[in-house]
Amino acid sequence: MNNPFENALAQLERATSLVSFHPDFLRVIRHPNRQVRISIPVKMDDGRLEVFEGYRVQFNNARGPYKGGIRFHQDTDIEEVKALAFWMALKCAVVNIPMGGGKGGVTVDPKPFTDGEKERLARGWMRGMADVVGPQKDVPAPDVNTTPQIMEWMADEYGKITGDISGAVITGKPVESGGSQGRGTATAQGGFYVFETLREKLGLPEKCTVAIQGFGNAGQVAAQLWSEAGHKVIAVSDSRAAIVNSEGLDIEALVAHKASTRSVGGFEGAQTIESIDVLYQACDLLIPAALENQIHEENVERIQAKVLLELANGPTTPKADDNLFARGIPVVPDILANAGGVTVSTFEWEQNLKKENWSEQEVFDKLKIIMDREALAIADKATQLNTDLRRAAF
Ligand code: GLU
Repeated sequence: MNNPFENALAQLERATSLVSFHPDFLRVIRHPNRQVRISIPVKMDDGRLEVFEGYRVQFNNARGPYKGGIRFHQDTDIEEVKALAFWMALKCAVVNIPMGGGKGGVTVDPKPFTDGEKERLARGWMRGMADVVGPQKDVPAPDVNTTPQIMEWMADEYGKITGDISGAVITGKPVESGGSQGRGTATAQGGFYVFETLREKLGLPEKCTVAIQGFGNAGQVAAQLWSEAGHKVIAVSDSRAAIVNSEGLDIEALVAHKASTRSVGGFEGAQTIESIDVLYQACDLLIPAALENQIHEENVERIQAKVLLELANGPTTPKADDNLFARGIPVVPDILANAGGVTVSTFEWEQNLKKENWSEQEVFDKLKIIMDREALAIADKATQLNTDLRRAAF
């Protein structure tokens, strides 16, 4: 049920039935160019040797080198990575950056790993993939459960193998190791620009109530940005729990609580509920910022938000899309809403290649121009075709 790649192809079909595309294009774009699977042996701290399965799907490079993150998650498999790679190809086209679509992963729950174990896994992934990635071939980045530190280990490993120490093989590195200013917050920041540009068109009030699923790279920064701008974040979740306070959560205190307890659960002054229930809160804006397939046929009726903005990739299935569209609940789709991450990644790649360092102001100014422009273009397209924002973006 809910194979993410089948969902992705269903989205494609629904969108491309509205306008005419060359049939050859439609035939080609359904298939990844290349799928790579590797085994990664890792010596664990207790002396055991474990072998993990790693992936890279290079979906399409018609626009430039393959681009997309690497995910470490216990449920990751080749079908998921294929769907994510496909969405990357479309996402890069939506924001018009010179990159194709790819994605990587490892089937692993890295949460209990020590730093040493994570480093050996990261370096192992890069050793297995070094001949298929590269600054002009395929440029990975962070995704679920992968961090700037992991990108740094991978970049270093690539440098040792190939002698290319430009860092341009991978983005999302720490700023002191060739990362770009602003990359850490870029996904949520890009989503926030889109939100501000479209807010009135979406019928949202000046100050919104917001629920956010996920408190990782994207969700935590989103909580900070929306609350700093005066919106009321009333509910957030992580993989362990969700918390609600209809008066609004103190996000800075929550970030500290999460850092010390590793979960948002048990936060003082909020009610702790089941993780999934964050989706069903009555609010103006719901931001899924975790995993795919969260809002589907069986639970979509329980959504009470007025608008959805997808910082996660693929959180809404095609059947759920239909339901929301019929109920007049707009969904700002992932390939627009979360494209700020890959956009600033591409700025990082460009800075590495040119040996430049841009200021945070410069990065965000450039990002805002792109996000605002594409948000408006997609909203216009949706009006023109009388369809939803996802089909318009496709
Ligand atoms: N993993 C992120 C995404 O899904 C970022 C990809 C990148 O920066 O290349 O868009």
